[in-house]
Amino acid sequence: MELESDQQPSSGLRKSMASWLAWLCAALAGVVLVGIAMLAQHFMNFDKPAGLLAWVVGVSAVLLFACQALATSRITAARADLASRAAEARFATLIQHAADVIAIVRRDGAISYLTPSAERVFGQQPAALIGRPLADLVALEDRVRLREFIVRDLAQAGASATVEVRIPRGADKHCVIEIQGTNLESEPSIGGRLLNLRDTTDRKGLEEQLKRLAFHDPLTLLANRALFHDRVEHALAVNKRSDRGVAVLFIDLDDFKTINDSLGHGQGDRVLSASAQRLVKCTRNGDTVARLGGDEFAVLLENLTDEQPVVEIAARIVASLQEPFPFLGSGLRVAASIGIAFATAADGVEELMRNADVAMYAAKAQGKGRYTIYVAEMQNVANRRLEVEAELAQALIDNQFQIHYQPIVELQSGYLLGVEALVRWKHPKRGIVTPGEFLDVAEDSGQMIALGRWVLRQACAEVQAWQARLPEGRQVRLAVNVSISQLEDSDLVTDVAFALKASKLDPGCLVIEVTEGVLMHNTEEMLAKLTGLKNLGVRIAIDDFGTGHSSLAYLHRFPIDIVKIDRSFIEQLGGLEDGAALARAIIALGNTLGLEVVAEGIELEHQQRELIELGCVAGQGYYYARPGMLNELEYSVHMKRRRTMADTLPQGARFTATGRFLVGSLRLSDPEPTATGTFGPSLTKKTV
Ligand code: C2E
Ligand code: CA
Ligand code: CA
Repeated sequence: MELESDQQPSSGLRKSMASWLAWLCAALAGVVLVGIAMLAQHFMNFDKPAGLLAWVVGVSAVLLFACQALATSRITAARADLASRAAEARFATLIQHAADVIAIVRRDGAISYLTPSAERVFGQQPAALIGRPLADLVALEDRVRLREFIVRDLAQAGASATVEVRIPRGADKHCVIEIQGTNLESEPSIGGRLLNLRDTTDRKGLEEQLKRLAFHDPLTLLANRALFHDRVEHALAVNKRSDRGVAVLFIDLDDFKTINDSLGHGQGDRVLSASAQRLVKCTRNGDTVARLGGDEFAVLLENLTDEQPVVEIAARIVASLQEPFPFLGSGLRVAASIGIAFATAADGVEELMRNADVAMYAAKAQGKGRYTIYVAEMQNVANRRLEVEAELAQALIDNQFQIHYQPIVELQSGYLLGVEALVRWKHPKRGIVTPGEFLDVAEDSGQMIALGRWVLRQACAEVQAWQARLPEGRQVRLAVNVSISQLEDSDLVTDVAFALKASKLDPGCLVIEVTEGVLMHNTEEMLAKLTGLKNLGVRIAIDDFGTGHSSLAYLHRFPIDIVKIDRSFIEQLGGLEDGAALARAIIALGNTLGLEVVAEGIELEHQQRELIELGCVAGQGYYYARPGMLNELEYSVHMKRRRTMADTLPQGARFTATGRFLVGSLRLSDPEPTATGTFGPSLTKKTV
């Protein structure tokens, strides 16, 4: 093309020069002829014949001019023909290489003209398609729309419109074609509807991708909150017109934070993706499964005739998420709490989603790893939580908390080993409120750290002041509970050091109780924190042992001194063989690992007896005393026993906070003092 356009000016110049030369020659010839005629008349002196000669010459010159004129007009016509052919060729080349397909269809939709590029779109030679209805070439579902487009939208002369259709490509693929049409029936050169067909498959793919990003969670590829909201809205609208029901399931993974924190976000993400796949497997085709954020998922179930399938799906999800994930290793499992809400006629999207959320919280409160169906009373509980959250902040400012202490006793002798500090809320209207009613809220609302710090300082100060009033050497140990958030999100080591310093309590008297979940946080950071505590001289107890999913294998990795067997195992003593077996196993494990075992929740005499038989040394429970004020404890039977025993100690010996006693620098556990025999075999086994 470029070459052609380069040559064009010079050839044009040549042609016009040739034409001018021809005219010049004709003019010269004419002038010469007339000249000759005039000379002949003058010199030869012709008389009559001279007029004739002039006529001959004149006519010859005119003929010559006519000849030249004819030749020129023929050249011009040939040149015009050449130019139009070049334009046609250029047009054909353009059409041949155009990405778009240009088609002309008749009023009935049959193709009358197609550019060669049609082969790329339809996969057939254009010639083979002439005469066929264009609608026959598009996907079945789009045929009616295309016919309407040609017949109705482009009915008027000059009308323009656009439509989008799909054209099948292979078994389960198609390309998307955008058709721009104009009715040019009145244009003789076209005489039909002129269509410009453009393949927009790639653009559509990109659009789809963007849409997916806007409405889907990129990690799990599930619907996101926005899409879920839309679907619920739509389902509720349909629901109002039919007698079919709608339900929403809110699913929250239990203790997911533990996995994320202990194994890292990579593993956390894998758990989320794998959980998403399980959710999809547990649901039916057509149900919407979404990730609302973090470890929260939701399922929308529509077209329900009764509640049964919903409950079945919820149960399937609970069971499925409890199955171990192979990539997590044997010790770790995930569980889920599910809240179910059925839509009522009055429910909008917000109400339905809030109800499912409230039911999910109820499931968590009932012990996690389960599903709960929303009932109206739950809303009161949820409102109560919000109320408590607001009141707690004020309670901290107004100093509305106090500490009760529950004795921990030596099982065999019944003397007081120490106390566990248990926080109470002296509510201005409700009286004494126990931790079960507000600790969760404090934890969720981030107020636990401030509350825990207060308990630590207050308990150390109170116990130190109380000890100071006891005769010298009668130290008792103080166990203080700390929550996982105190360990994770605050500088617990500094807080403990401060509480010890401010109260002047002997660090050897302080026991920090952490829940079993800490063992799951098998991280260097957690190990460093616990080691930091140990370096202060305090001891560490694992609380509620046996209730979590923690691996016993982790026990030895952490600097643990005391294991507290959960009340649920003590309850089973004397009953089914299993409970006793578990308690026995924990006591044996404690002895093997050199840990002190404390039994919790002893309520009955036979439980005490069995525990002694199993070799358990210490315990606490209503059987001995309920939590109370320190000054009440001073006159308790346990304190009296301790005093009596202390009075019979060998010269120079005194109790330590562990309940063991020292004779000067000599330990009772050394072989010699055993001879005293006063305190029974259990004492002689212990070390300070
Ligand atoms: P825990 O650490 O397992 O404390 C023992 C709980 O069992 C106490 O409940 C106690 O009153 C109760 N208990 C003791 N003996 C018996 C018995 O023989 N039978 C029965 N049925 N219960 C018994 P409380 O005081 O309501 O505390 C509940 C939980 O709240 C505690 O369980 C502990 O995990 C937590 N908690 C209490 N105070 C604090 C605190 O200051 N900080 C933190 N982080 N948690 C605390
Ligand atoms: Ca405890
Ligand atoms: Ca406990």
